[in-house]
Amino acid sequence: MTGLDDLPLREDLRGRAPYGAPQLEVAVRLNTNENSYDVPPDVVTAVVDALSREVPHLNRYPDREFAALRADLAAYLGHGLTPEQVWAANGSNEVLQQLLQAFGGSGRVALGFTPAYSMHPIIANATGTAWVDGQRDSDFDLDAGHVAAQVADVDPDVVFLCSPNNPTGTALRRDVVIAACEAARGMVVVDEAYAEFAREGAVSALSVLPDRPRLVVTRTMSKAFTFAGARLGYLAAAPAVCDALRLVRLPYHLSSLTQAAARAALAHAGALLSTVDAIKMQRDRIVDALPRLGLHPVPSDANFVLFGGLDDEKRTWQDLLDRGVLVRDVGIRHHLRVTAGTPDETTAFLDALADTRGATS
Ligand code: PMP
Repeated sequence: MTGLDDLPLREDLRGRAPYGAPQLEVAVRLNTNENSYDVPPDVVTAVVDALSREVPHLNRYPDREFAALRADLAAYLGHGLTPEQVWAANGSNEVLQQLLQAFGGSGRVALGFTPAYSMHPIIANATGTAWVDGQRDSDFDLDAGHVAAQVADVDPDVVFLCSPNNPTGTALRRDVVIAACEAARGMVVVDEAYAEFAREGAVSALSVLPDRPRLVVTRTMSKAFTFAGARLGYLAAAPAVCDALRLVRLPYHLSSLTQAAARAALAHAGALLSTVDAIKMQRDRIVDALPRLGLHPVPSDANFVLFGGLDDEKRTWQDLLDRGVLVRDVGIRHHLRVTAGTPDETTAFLDALADTRGATS
């Protein structure tokens, strides 16, 4: 049988591993930072109504400019943003891909600060952009001086920041974003997929967008909005950034159904976001409980917690799976990452983890 090695694959893709978070049928799935809560029934009704209004017109291509959706997203983000400053695609992964197609590519370099979101280097590679792994401090923190020095040293075309950072969980201070912008010749992308879960005092990079035409802030409806299956990610940036993305996006990339579903969801933002506080409580519960099991959680502004102190993280991952709880091995030795879900899921996770350690939670 023909294998990958027998095909005339691009040389730079040979030996690469695809994104591969396991999708397993397990009772408690806490490995991909989804929102554990279903879409509430009144929002389901609104989405279905909106979709049914679109279906008769599926003979026509959708609005290529998704103008109404951009207006709704701008209104949701606030910060005085206009629809011309907002762009969307099928998940923020596609937004990131379009950014790299426009501002990265062959002969260009992207810099990120590892550990961060695993898709940043994968999308860089897929678009032919060279990737440089920047360094974090020993507690996974980033400070402005260290970031500025690395940006100056590497001189990348695209800098990736992630706030709150996946997988470590902590939000960036505003001075770090400003330092990256000031040091960078190229684009600075702040991935804020988990922004809605941030603790009091965290500041979105949206607040420093004015007068920074090379800064881009990406967001998603996959997490706080409990809408991952709909695939809707977006960004805020200078209008010229959206002009750049028009050069690389496929025509009509956002289907009429996606646009209608996202608009119906945004009209019910309050109902969808009502799970955020409950999830933050479970996150904080995990952070409080883990030290009692001899483990070291990293403070989190997201809907997940990274924790260290495991002798053998692969063994613990399997032990938890054997007890019906799926968490994430993010490739950091002695650490695992767990999504904060419902109270029952959190209890199941903590009980299973205590069991693997011969303790009670
Ligand atoms: N950014 C970060 C930091 C993420 O963790 C994720 C999803 N895990 C994404 C972007 C992509 O999410 P989506 O494509 O669903 O918007």
